[in-house]
Amino acid sequence: MRGPRQRAEALLFTLTGAARGARGRRGVAGHLAQRRPLPSYQSYLASRQLSPSDHDPRGGGGVPATVAYRERDAELSLHGFRCTGCGTMHFPRQRVCYRCHARDRFEAVRLSDRAGRVLSYTFDWFFPNPEPPTIAGVVEVEGARLYVQMCDARPEQLRCDLPIEMVFRRIHEAGGRPNYFWKSTPIAAPASDAASPATAPGGGR
Ligand SMILES: [Zn+2]
Repeated sequence: MRGPRQRAEALLFTLTGAARGARGRRGVAGHLAQRRPLPSYQSYLASRQLSPSDHDPRGGGGVPATVAYRERDAELSLHGFRCTGCGTMHFPRQRVCYRCHARDRFEAVRLSDRAGRVLSYTFDWFFPNPEPPTIAGVVEVEGARLYVQMCDARPEQLRCDLPIEMVFRRIHEAGGRPNYFWKSTPIAAPASDAASPATAPGGGR
């Protein structure tokens, strides 16, 4: 979509043989089927920060580079940490297992591409968001419990045990630069349903 003071960009990717073998790949049509269209042009202006707002999304100190580097395993790779003594999963990293009290005995477990489920959720109408409410809640992935925002979801979709997956998304621009973290999103519809929205009249960008 092209708006005031916006450029249009076209990206062309060539898949290699390695990408074709990647697990869980759903293709452009699959991702387009999962998108959440903006309800109005005003929503677009707000989401692109092209209309006045009481909230300055660039405010705040942001995450210091040293902290971001130190926490990269949890925050970029989204690793949970399993106690090798009793198997309990922890997120974020802890030094002492709350169940068996073992100390510094953890192994990293990749959570980024694992399915999970919603344990609890809330709708936040105060958090600055061009399209309130912000949905946040606790999700369970591989036994780890994470408190995260949810994206590409409508409030009426939410229920406990809703299957979700994790996606890497922009959180805010604190400190004058974009900050990213993981959010949950409802698992997309089966592939048989995925192609139709992308080919609907007016679909695409
Ligand atoms: Zn333990």
